[in-house]
Amino acid sequence: MGPGKVFGELAILYNCQRTATIKAATDCKLFAIERQCFQTIMMRTGLQKQAEYTAFLKSVPSFQNLPEETVIKLADVLEETYYSQGDYIIRQGARGDTFYIISRGRVNVTMRSPDSMEEKLIRTLGKGDFFGEKALQGEDIRTANIVADDPDGVACLVIDHDTFDQLISRLEEVKNRYVDESQLRKQSIPLFDEPDTKESDHRINREFADVKLSDLAVIATLGVGGFGRVELVQMVHDKSRSFALKQMKKAQIVETRQQQHIMSEKEIMEEANCDFIVKLYKTFKDRKYLYMLMESCMGGELWTILRDRGNFDDATTRFYTACVVEAFDYLHARGIIYRDLKPENLLLDNRGYVKLVDFGFAKKLLVGRKTWTFCGTPEYVAPEIILNKGHDISADYWSLGVLMFELLTGTPPFTGPDPMKTYNIILKGIDAIEFPRNITRTATVLIKKLCRDNPAERLGYQKGGIRDIQKHKWFDGFNWEGLIGRTLTPPIIPHIRSVLDSSNFDDYPPDSEPLPQDDLSGWDADF
Ligand code: ATP
Ligand code: MG
Repeated sequence: MGPGKVFGELAILYNCQRTATIKAATDCKLFAIERQCFQTIMMRTGLQKQAEYTAFLKSVPSFQNLPEETVIKLADVLEETYYSQGDYIIRQGARGDTFYIISRGRVNVTMRSPDSMEEKLIRTLGKGDFFGEKALQGEDIRTANIVADDPDGVACLVIDHDTFDQLISRLEEVKNRYVDESQLRKQSIPLFDEPDTKESDHRINREFADVKLSDLAVIATLGVGGFGRVELVQMVHDKSRSFALKQMKKAQIVETRQQQHIMSEKEIMEEANCDFIVKLYKTFKDRKYLYMLMESCMGGELWTILRDRGNFDDATTRFYTACVVEAFDYLHARGIIYRDLKPENLLLDNRGYVKLVDFGFAKKLLVGRKTWTFCGTPEYVAPEIILNKGHDISADYWSLGVLMFELLTGTPPFTGPDPMKTYNIILKGIDAIEFPRNITRTATVLIKKLCRDNPAERLGYQKGGIRDIQKHKWFDGFNWEGLIGRTLTPPIIPHIRSVLDSSNFDDYPPDSEPLPQDDLSGWDADF
């Protein structure tokens, strides 16, 4: 490699192992940047931009009464556009639906009098000034010309009527739905802070309050994950049912600095009360491990079924995608982003309904806020995560599109021989991907609407929220009520002979790793 070439770029995204050795062949001089530094800069720039745009918006009288979180969302969809000296930004008499805020440079406002063709200078506007605001209310005839008048060029932040409208009503809708849902679906999906939910949560937990680790007998291994194994267990005093026990090595959690993620995994799973999310009954800890006692889903991973069948047809994919949509609806309505969608994290219960498991990357976000941590699985990561721009629940819609594609074809749309190559393919966008012929047109359309580069344009993140996905043509005729009420027959019904039958999972060799180190530092006090 010679001048201008880069290497090690994966390391600026996250802590990873080097896949090759680089040795100086001659004397060289390199530019280097550390991850911490890169990420701090990216995050700071993102936040600064958000703060700056928010301040611009707040100086516009018609935005002054909007709640802070709405202004932040608006700031997110503003696009910066550039003009050279003399450019007409808008023309008197023309139609237009875009609103502008000047972020750099100066413009002239000019008007033509009815009797002459001459343009008269009305005034000059500069940074922070705005024009075209009537367009947002739907008046589309421009009453003046706006001409860029700055030797260094002019930059404007723009938003059009449609985007503005979509966003404002989506925020309204989300707020209203919060209220509606608590009344409409009290039995099935109650909100966290309702007294009866707490009751029922406690009921679950009360049942397991006295269970001790020593009451559990390990039957088989169901999975091996990042921090340890997930075992199928049974209570020594009650053989009528089985559970999954996820064990995580504390020392390894500390080493990879995942303490916060694990705590939030526990909190989110513990509070979640949704049929499409695996239930967490109780947690334990000892010197070496943290444990999560969960309901067992004995149908196995969707990943295993997909591997064995190659791919799914439209109807099968629709059913599983719908289960995920329901789980996301539940989480997103509570400001929780999931961030680790993939077939490995979707488990079939004994009826064949899918449940979301593994909340290691889930996070509760404040409204209008973003998060910056790089996480997920390479093939499913959204572009804004790779670009370190900050991300929110819209990243989950991206991964939903990726999941649909993988279920329909057997491979995710963006794959490369190594993560960095995969990321480069993701950044080229969904339009650069060839869709195999067996994907129907409607499915293609939906996938493309979910996998938009611009998070604000993704279906699910628009005016109608997640309802837009449910209403999409690909789901026409799908029995959502039957899904929620569990009367719908799943496309694949797992064979499960008994509560101890782990044959739907792959075999795992016995744990041969040495016992992990003790960790008594106490970070897990609340686990
Ligand atoms: P992390 O991302 O925190 O490292 P992980 O991938 O190690 O998570 P999980 O995804 O929670 O851990 O579990 C690993 C595997 O164990 C799952 O893919 C699944 O096969 C199995 N498993 C987990 N929970 C259950 C459960 N409740 N019932 C049945 N199998 C389960
Ligand atoms: Mg997992």
